[in-house]
Amino acid sequence: MAKLILATFAVVFMALAATSLAGDPDMLQDVCVADYKSLKGPLRLNGFPCKRIENVTANDFFFDGLMKAGNTGNSVGSVVTAASVESLPGLNTMGVSMARIDYAPWGLNPPHTHPRATEIIFVVEGSLDVGFVTTANKLFTRTVCKGEVFVFPRGLVHFQKNNGNTPAFAIAALNSQLPGTQSIAAALFGAAPPLPSDTLARAFQVDGGMVEFIKSKFVPPKY
Ligand code: MN
Repeated sequence: MAKLILATFAVVFMALAATSLAGDPDMLQDVCVADYKSLKGPLRLNGFPCKRIENVTANDFFFDGLMKAGNTGNSVGSVVTAASVESLPGLNTMGVSMARIDYAPWGLNPPHTHPRATEIIFVVEGSLDVGFVTTANKLFTRTVCKGEVFVFPRGLVHFQKNNGNTPAFAIAALNSQLPGTQSIAAALFGAAPPLPSDTLARAFQVDGGMVEFIKSKFVPPKY
């Protein structure tokens, strides 16, 4: 009997722990509009400090940056425009954000993950071949057409490809104020300082020359 009670407590505790780790933390007040100026000060915390309420305006909750198509003239033929806490200060502590994804004809949003959010996309124009891979390396993939919705579970590697010869775009909703994006190829082959080529050669079971060739396609960030 004691064992059963203990087991029940263990299950309840695990369920509570899972809930509290399920995404962005709950808010503790109505609004906490991000005070970007705080980044220049000494205070550092998880998210942004709140602006004083008397300085908050309706514009803090407004963003018009998803209105226009982004420039898809790059090597993969897609661009993501985010409406996250970094562009929409009213999102601070709200646990949600949006993005607009534009695709050139046949353009690809290459395999990437969002460490802090599940993503649900609505195809506004065109049709996409999309997919995600589970931690057991099972691929779930299908075509998603205009007006349809698809969901990418939090943290899993996923991609979308425009499967038509006209531009496409989708709107994404994500359950984090700052989902984070880690692009797989860029993380491995375009990091600064670079990952050792012998490490990548072994991981991908190719020779070092091949690794150097792929690295040459990426411009590492400046730190
Ligand atoms: Mn994504």
